[in-house]
Amino acid sequence: MKTSCDASCKKPFEVEEFQTDRISGGIEKVYFSCPHCQQEYVAFYTDPEIRELQVRIRRVQQRFANPKADIGKVAQREAEIKAQIKEKMNALRARIEGGGYGK
Ligand SMILES: [Zn+2]
Repeated sequence: MKTSCDASCKKPFEVEEFQTDRISGGIEKVYFSCPHCQQEYVAFYTDPEIRELQVRIRRVQQRFANPKADIGKVAQREAEIKAQIKEKMNALRARIEGGGYGK
């Protein structure tokens, strides 16, 4: 993934890997940093509930490989979980970045 360091040095860089940091309350911050100036960019936050949903979506996605699976249903289920994850991630991020959670 190519991006540029908009918040700091403005140099373009390639995101090679995400790092994970534990915050309080079982919350994890997934982020990457600029290789030039170490400016940190948060990709998303997860809590135990979101991580459980991520496990569940992976399990659903594995069903695509099953020739007997009803692909339409699997795709629908996948979309449902994806929407839930997105909604919860947005809410969690707003909660954390709006204050209330220290490091
Ligand atoms: Zn930078």
